[in-house]
Order: sequence, then C-alpha cells, then structure tokens
Amino acid sequence: MQRYRAENLTAATARILEAAGSSVEEARVVAEHLVDANLAGHDSHGVGMLPAYIEHLRSGLFVANQTPEVVNDAGAVIVVDARHGLGQHMVLKALDLGIARAKEVGACVVAVRESAHVGRIGAYAEYCAAAGLASTHFVNVVDHTPIVAPFGGSDGRFITNPFCAALPGPNGPTPLLDMATSTIAFGKARVARNKGVPVPEGTLLDEAGRPTNDPTALVDEKRGALTAFGLHKGSGLAILCEVFAGALAGERTIQPENPRRGSIVNNLLSILMDPKAFGDPLTIAKEAAAFGAYVKASPPAPGVDEVLLPGEPEARSRAERQASGVPVDPMTIEQIKEAGRSVGLSEAELGMLVRS
Ligand code: NAD
Repeated sequence: MQRYRAENLTAATARILEAAGSSVEEARVVAEHLVDANLAGHDSHGVGMLPAYIEHLRSGLFVANQTPEVVNDAGAVIVVDARHGLGQHMVLKALDLGIARAKEVGACVVAVRESAHVGRIGAYAEYCAAAGLASTHFVNVVDHTPIVAPFGGSDGRFITNPFCAALPGPNGPTPLLDMATSTIAFGKARVARNKGVPVPEGTLLDEAGRPTNDPTALVDEKRGALTAFGLHKGSGLAILCEVFAGALAGERTIQPENPRRGSIVNNLLSILMDPKAFGDPLTIAKEAAAFGAYVKASPPAPGVDEVLLPGEPEARSRAERQASGVPVDPMTIEQIKEAGRSVGLSEAELGMLVRS
C-alpha cells in the first residue's frame, strides 16, 4: 500500500479543514490529532475520518471555530459545553482548565458535552500525562444510529463507547489503555470495507443477529451490529461509559427519546489526578515500572513473541510510521480528495497536497 509522510498528510488535512471554515489553529490541532492516530496505528481514527468531518461541517452538524462554554464550575468538577465544535480542539481547551485545577486541588473531573467527534481518546491521556497527571476517560457517542449490540442482544443499542486510562511515566504514559468497548472500533470495519477484506470472526452480527464477517451492510447502510468485547463484562463497561459520559457528563444518552440527526457527537467524562496529591511521583512511577517489567517477564504463550503492555503497540507503530510513512489505501485517498473538492479546492492544489 502507498505510504504517505506524516507531514504531508497533516498539511493536506489542515488545508482541507481550513477550506471548510476552520481557523489555521483549529485546522492544525485537528489535522495533527488525526495524523497522530494514523501514526499510532489507529487508521480507524486517522485521516480517513476527514471526509465525514467535512460533510458534517458543510451540513452544519459540526461547527468550526467554537469556543467551549463552561456551564458549571464546581471546584473539582468543571462542565464544558462544546456546542458541536470540532472535538480535538474543544477537548484540549477543556482539559487545560482541568489540568490547572487538578494541579491546584489534586484532582479534577472534566465533563465535555455535545462535542463533535473527539477522535482517538489516547491522545487526551497522553496530553494529561505530558502535564504530569494520571487520567481516566469515559466516552459515549450520540446523535447517531446505535451500532453495538449488548451482551445477549441482537441489534445496536449503543455505539463503540471508548474507555481510556493512563499513568504518567518518565518516558510517556505507561501503561496507556485506550479501547473501544466494541470488539473492534467501527472505523476498523470502515477500513476493512474500504480495503475489501473481512472483519475478524466474532466482531459482527448481521441484521438477524447472526455472526458475519462482511462489514459492507454495517458500513454502507448501518444494518447489523458490532459485538461488545468481552461478553457480559465488556458490554457492562460500554453501558457504564454510556451513563458516566452520557447521562452524568452530557445529560444525553443514545436512548431513542433523544435526537439522532446522523452526526457523531461525543460526551466525555475525564478524571484527572495529580500523583503529587497521592505521594512521591517518582516512587509511584518506579512502582508502576517495576510492575510493568514483572508483567512483561511472563513467559510468552505458544505463538506469541513478546508480552506487551497497553500502549506499547502504539509507541512501536509511531516509531515505524514516522520513519517509513503512513500506509493509506487508495479508496481513503480518493475520499479525502473528494472532501477537498467539495470545499472548493482545485484538482491542481489537491494533486500538490495529497502526496506521498
Ligand atoms: P485496539 O484494540 O487496537 O487496542 C486497545 C488497547 O489494547 C490499546 O491500549 C492497545 O495498546 C492495547 N493492545 C493492543 N494490542 C495489544 C497486545 N498485543 N498486548 C497488549 N496490549 C495490546 O483499539 P480499539 O479498541 O480498536 O480502539 C481504537 C481507537 O478508537 C482508540 O484510540 C479509541 O480511543 C478510538 N475510539 C474512539 C471513539 C470515539 O467516539 N471518539 C469510539 C471508539 C473508539
């Protein structure tokens, strides 16, 4: 597959977002986030999301250049309404408030409601860790047809509700767990659809609730459902994400009395914790590192090369893709160009921008 240098993908993505109305600053923040998701190996949340962002900006479901509004500041709780502003930009602004507060009082719960898609949640745990904070994030997705079946169910009742948590360490956050609560993220079904390959066994149900591995009906027509990961336990965590991020932080779950306009709206509940409020940050980091080393020393099971900690696959992918470029399939490249055309970019400019 053709590989693209991260800088070129970032420049192209930012230019298309600017043409769709984002400020230079907003376009840069969103483009860097999307390309970093590709670098981390999560193509489902990378530049392949751009066409949907542009479509929603054009239809008014996403709003460029929003200023997040603090609707409640209760000391250790800050509630922010993102008013459908581009999620990456809105969440970083909200987290800046929470980081300052957590450093003041030891911890802060940040609720971001009504945000346009916020992308890869691990980026926010990395942002908190870079400020020296541990964090955990619950996210739900609304304004959309549900596509994940609960354990024992046969149709979609919620979306891929991600959960994320990380501890800061001397060389970045470790461990960094960042996962959809569906067996695979919806974007991974989209990537498989674009590549024309099946999704893994056990990840998908057809509209009659039977297992299938063809993502076409789900991706193209929202027929069928993804499965929740980990049987009843993963399904339970997805439901908790829905009530923590949806009901508590956002006052909006995916239950059918709420609107479903076909947008991708995230609510997010982030808990930021300053290790200094718990003890000596160095001792905490050393203890976590010793535990991580103990976990990694488990003899690999047959067929496994190495035991990895959560976050290690992303760090390795970043190193490899920074050096060799990000693989992007031709269908995704064409969809990105089409998004550029839809906001008035010429064929010549797109040819110059979208290059390896
Ligand atoms: P995944 O299954 O690839 O990885 C999940 C976690 O498992 C990661 O922390 C990873 O480091 C770890 N991991 C993977 N392989 C491992 C191994 N061999 N050993 C040890 N740990 C390993 O991720 P996913 O569930 O497909 O999620 C993809 C992305 O989608 C995430 O970044 C998530 O935030 C994002 N997402 C966003 C939304 C949204 O609405 N904004 C919704 C769903 C998912």
